[in-house]
Amino acid sequence: MQPQSTRSHISPRRLAALTSVTVLTLAVAPSAGNGHLSPYPSTPGAGPSTLSRSSAHSPCMIGSAREIQMSEGIPTIDGYAPSTGTVHALTLMIDFSDAPGEGKALDRYREFFPQTQEWFRTSSYGRLDYRPEIPIPDWLRMPKSFREYGIERGAPFDPGYRKLVDDLVAAADPKVDFRSYDLVNVLMTPNAGPSALDTVLSVTFAGNPEAPTADGVPVANASFVYSRQDDGSGSLDRTGYRVLPHENGHVFGLPDLYTAEGGGAVGHWDIMSEDWGANNDLLGWHKWKIGWLDPRQVHCAAGTGTREYALTPLAEPGGPKLVFLPLDARSGYAVEFRTRAGNDEAVCRPGILIYKVDAAVETGMGPVTVYDSRQESGGCTRSPNIHAELSDAPFTPGQTFIDREAGIRIQVLEPTTPGSGSEVPEYHVRITRT
Ligand SMILES: [Zn+2]
Repeated sequence: MQPQSTRSHISPRRLAALTSVTVLTLAVAPSAGNGHLSPYPSTPGAGPSTLSRSSAHSPCMIGSAREIQMSEGIPTIDGYAPSTGTVHALTLMIDFSDAPGEGKALDRYREFFPQTQEWFRTSSYGRLDYRPEIPIPDWLRMPKSFREYGIERGAPFDPGYRKLVDDLVAAADPKVDFRSYDLVNVLMTPNAGPSALDTVLSVTFAGNPEAPTADGVPVANASFVYSRQDDGSGSLDRTGYRVLPHENGHVFGLPDLYTAEGGGAVGHWDIMSEDWGANNDLLGWHKWKIGWLDPRQVHCAAGTGTREYALTPLAEPGGPKLVFLPLDARSGYAVEFRTRAGNDEAVCRPGILIYKVDAAVETGMGPVTVYDSRQESGGCTRSPNIHAELSDAPFTPGQTFIDREAGIRIQVLEPTTPGSGSEVPEYHVRITRT
């Protein structure tokens, strides 16, 4: 089997990211009310509302003075789907006269579920109860041919997707009350459009209050998934669903972390960077941003002096997960402990991952940069089709990250094993700010 180069997945997805940028311009305009499909704007436990507003965390709640599309800033702006509690995902399988659904629509559904639900349950430590719902368990036929919608890679919301959403709403409306859902998944018949080997069309339009309305609410957060992206690793059946958690990450307000250069900025450390290949988790920063870490699990290291912090593996529930060192009002360093566990199945060098988050950088332009503790090593992974160089990025005991200009030292200490019954090591970092 000819391995698919990572690059060929990226450029089209990059175009898709630019597409969502265009749409989001509308989203950051003065709020046109609740952007969720749900008519209940204050969904209990929705991500940003659970974030600490305490003074201890406020220096770490970075943002941007100018309007940034899908910013890494905290809190996430209004208009995205809730990311905690019970989230109802309307899931529709659609086909076209020139691309009739082959096989059962439910088989298409089963390519993504229950794996996507389980991915969210694991990654969120049970804080996101994701409920895919299929009020129409058959193929929903669109009135126009796929070709007539004019959808190709990088297609903007207008006019093709707008027409598609209009038609989709009209076709589903007799059986669907759109007010009952927080987000929409549109699973296209895999024969619509080119093979994902050639171009990747999957795209999300998020936080888009200008979207067509259905039952009085805008279809503001919708992910369109085309044929699955076979990464050539032979693991498609096991990992091909991962495009959906990635696309849904956008409806929760998370930006793309891959850039025009591919996965070189973040590697395989976040599903918003690489959603192909072996399973992976989200960065701790993203988990804080969407409400999966509570304030006690996040330490804001804003002051000067030396202090030690304990960190437990990000993939395991409970314990301290993230230390953030703000550099200014818009950026800072994040520090977390990554191991092979949970959704992180390809970690080959456990340790302390250090990365910079910049809330003033747009989606797809590199808002996060991971620091490689072993530059130009080639990495430690044997997992196919993932960015190898950054696979051994974590810092291990004895190593120190230094930013002289900012007066920051992050030293990784020897791990300790906490009291009886637990095999999970705790890592400690000594942080000095001058
Ligand atoms: Zn994306």
